[in-house]
Amino acid sequence: MSQTSETVLEIDLSALEHNYNYLRSKLSPNTKMLGVVKAFAYGSDSVAIAKRLSKIGIDYFAVAYTREGIALRKGGIQKPILVLHPQSTNFEEVIENDLLPNIYSKFTLEAFIETAEKLQLKKYPIHLKINTGLNRLGFDLDEMNWIAETLASTESVKVEGIFSHLAASEDEAERDFTKYQIENYQKALDTLLPQLDFPPIRHLCNTSGIINYPEAHYDMVRTGIGLYGFGNCAEEDKKLKPVGTLKTIISQIHHIKKGESVGYNRGFKAASATKTATLPLGHADGINRIYGKEKTGVLVNGYHAPIIGNVCMDMLMIDISGIDCKEGDEVILFGKEKSAEEFAHNAGTISYELITSISQRVKRKLI
Ligand code: PLP
Repeated sequence: MSQTSETVLEIDLSALEHNYNYLRSKLSPNTKMLGVVKAFAYGSDSVAIAKRLSKIGIDYFAVAYTREGIALRKGGIQKPILVLHPQSTNFEEVIENDLLPNIYSKFTLEAFIETAEKLQLKKYPIHLKINTGLNRLGFDLDEMNWIAETLASTESVKVEGIFSHLAASEDEAERDFTKYQIENYQKALDTLLPQLDFPPIRHLCNTSGIINYPEAHYDMVRTGIGLYGFGNCAEEDKKLKPVGTLKTIISQIHHIKKGESVGYNRGFKAASATKTATLPLGHADGINRIYGKEKTGVLVNGYHAPIIGNVCMDMLMIDISGIDCKEGDEVILFGKEKSAEEFAHNAGTISYELITSISQRVKRKLI
């Protein structure tokens, strides 16, 4: 891996390819795969990630918001793109950019049909989302007949997909709950499918669902975190490769005496003589204050160095006592050599939050 001269998020597209192939190997050959590339492809680079995934055979993409889908289209991505959380105010943009809206409520179905009829569209594809227990977005099970009647009254849309989202597919302790969600999803399909003109794509599983519930893969799976190298458990993490590596350099080294402090609000007080290093990244880069106060640490020449005191906006300080290093040396926050999951977990959060928070100020480098 190359030496850096500034803070950089390296994005390893061969690791992405490895993860894609690993997840594909869990599916039967006819099962489609949707890559979730919302939030800059989990904090990396959505166009670069989507281009590579398109090249190696992904079937679909999903983003959260319409403007994320438009950015992919502008970047040249031609595969189908599902917008998981469109607003009715941007349904026209959804259509103009050939995006697939998630229709999740009576209000959104009526509003989308109104837009489609105004534009005199015929059979514009939509995906319906069913609430099977996450209680976030989705039609309730008792709304299936209303959906069927509403669809029967218009030619403007057609149901291309029916999906739901699992709340706890990574939790062994919640197996019964996930099975209950799968049953609810099946009940919704049983009511709705006989009332549709032709069979839609059924999709339910996220990354942990792919791994833990092979019986529920249906026609397509939606994978996000697994593509970026995390399997939500140690066993799966070993089989996947982290795509992002966040690295920086040492800007300055200080030798402080017992009783001296470091940073704002004197967040660290030296219990003995301490060697510290200042790094050029902070909470404006996505390394939030929760990672400070020795909650977690970084790697300096292969050694663990805790983040001390309060993380500043553009800098953070680490304790490098006993570590042989100099100004300009490389520091790894997370990536191949140091698990982002561990970095996040030590500070009480999860890899999803850590990696999606790396701000756009941090340079992205494709390797
Ligand atoms: N499907 C939906 C609706 C999602 O919101 C997400 C992620 O938040 C995913 C799939 C992908 O989940 P994961 O990253 O756990 O694979």
